[in-house]
Amino acid sequence: MSNVVNLRCACGTVKGKLKIVPGSYFHVHCLCCDCQSFASYLKKEENILDEHGGTELFQTYPEYMEITEGSENIGCIQLREKGLYRWHTTCCNMPLANTMASPKIPFVGISAKLMQFGNEKEKTEVLGPVTMKAFGKYSKGDMPKDAHPKFPISYMPKIIGFMLKGMLGKKNIPSPFFRNGEPVTKAKVL
Ligand SMILES: [Zn+2]
Ligand SMILES: [Zn+2]
Repeated sequence: MSNVVNLRCACGTVKGKLKIVPGSYFHVHCLCCDCQSFASYLKKEENILDEHGGTELFQTYPEYMEITEGSENIGCIQLREKGLYRWHTTCCNMPLANTMASPKIPFVGISAKLMQFGNEKEKTEVLGPVTMKAFGKYSKGDMPKDAHPKFPISYMPKIIGFMLKGMLGKKNIPSPFFRNGEPVTKAKVL
């Protein structure tokens, strides 16, 4: 069984849908300095980051994410050449998602802030708990007790399995961020 969650930016211009497919996602917190830099670039640190500087992400296949309204308001940055594509809205500077710079990689890390739930209980029922907190060494203040200082090696087999399944199933397309193998908008390198 899969659930569909509505996506909406802060001002409501950009809307979309996300299919939640069991076994095809990771619900994580990323505490890395790049995610923190992205939030400060958008001038939305207090809206995006938790008290430790963590960003809540829902990592899944691009095929499962759809932008249904306002796609002309999609912007993209790279913190450096060859960095991840960090997609955001241009209407209200909300983070949308991270992807690799290549459209061939079946991966999208969607900002949980876009996801519309009635309440926290409903959210936990649909997404399950956060299963990994990575790059805790970049935490603001004390590192959360359940965070890993870097990236837990125990997670690697899961990530490899996820990527293989995504590649074999061609779950990189369709993507809200690439069309005919090209990004929907040109990334601005900071
Ligand atoms: Zn907006
Ligand atoms: Zn990060």
